[in-house]
Amino acid sequence: MSPRRPAWPGHAGAIPLVSPLQPSVVYRSADPDALDAQYASGAGYTYAREGHPNADVLAGLIDGMEGADGGFVTGSGMAAISAMFLGLLRAGDHVVGADQLYGRTLRMMNAELPRLGIDTTLADVTDAAAIRAAIRPETKLVVVEVVSNPTIRIADMEGIVAATREAGVLLAVDNTFTTPALYRPLAEGADIVIHSVTKLLSGHSDTTLGYVAARDPALTRAMWEANETWGLTPSPFDCWLAERGMMSFELRLARAEANAEALAEALTGMPGVRRVLWPGRADHPDHNRAMAVLGGRGGNMLSFEVEGGREAANALVRGAEGIAFAPTLGDVSTTLSHPASSSHRAVPAEARARVGISEGFFRVSVGIEPPEDLIAAFRRGVEAASAAAARGGAG
Ligand SMILES: *Cc1c(COP(=O)(O)O)cnc(C)c1O
Repeated sequence: MSPRRPAWPGHAGAIPLVSPLQPSVVYRSADPDALDAQYASGAGYTYAREGHPNADVLAGLIDGMEGADGGFVTGSGMAAISAMFLGLLRAGDHVVGADQLYGRTLRMMNAELPRLGIDTTLADVTDAAAIRAAIRPETKLVVVEVVSNPTIRIADMEGIVAATREAGVLLAVDNTFTTPALYRPLAEGADIVIHSVTKLLSGHSDTTLGYVAARDPALTRAMWEANETWGLTPSPFDCWLAERGMMSFELRLARAEANAEALAEALTGMPGVRRVLWPGRADHPDHNRAMAVLGGRGGNMLSFEVEGGREAANALVRGAEGIAFAPTLGDVSTTLSHPASSSHRAVPAEARARVGISEGFFRVSVGIEPPEDLIAAFRRGVEAASAAAARGGAG
């Protein structure tokens, strides 16, 4: 699933194996006729906000993995989502979204789109009937993630594809958590695929990038126009770094996934751990659906809950020495996040409790470390949390 190195034009007969980094913002044209022809055809480069070689090469690699044609790279995952909304919607339209989308996407649904006169409804994506019920005559678009963050629930993708087709509305899938190795939205019947390339595809937490592609070239064109006009363009250097990272994508994911399975198994047996959520395990609430939707794979994301309140959570993070407490995912190293103090801070406690996000709830983006080091670090963390919970009384 990792892409092959792209071919670049040669220089004086020698073809570089590694893509050159092309930072030029502007490109010269031969004469006004040539420039005119270039604008008319859309081919070639004139000004970097409107496209540059490093972005195009990266987009081509992701297109290949997603089975897409003509997708483009944006300055962040949120820029990709913005390009979609700004390119495809107008005041009076309605959008349905999953009720557990990425935090900033939820903010887009709850605050930004309504501010622009676009109404939104959030619904439970584990239940296609709830999505169907949320669709109205003026609904233009349904936006979902396959694996919910941070609760690791699996969307009923087959039911949602059917519901959106029947209603004649567009389905956009944010494929960041799943990656094309676990799910390929366009092949499964979705209309639009989105990535935060920042995460698993790039893989090293040193670039901020996004990607979006639609099955219908007219939709891709509309999103691309918004991207250029609203200035959501990526930096050549970020694209160049991401291309390098993507060469090892499949190896990184396979190792991280094997580590996630081993860590889930180890956590399940640790005293003080209430529950572990990894889709590849038979005890996951959506295991059967996960196996069908994710092609038998479990991915690198898991969540778990320990007994105790904030004190136990603090103790866990301090005790799991060597595991970075950082609100991201998809890095080569394992990162730990605590939704109650970060992504879900603003969510009222009882709404959080309804979806199972307690003070003891953690999300783990599993990396590629030696598994025994990883398990040992989490064991120290869980033991520290249990000791804190015992001191403070169960929270
Ligand atoms: C991180 C993330 C985003 C936003 O991407 P940025 O590159 O941070 O802008 C969107 N969706 C999901 C699922 C993400 O994990």
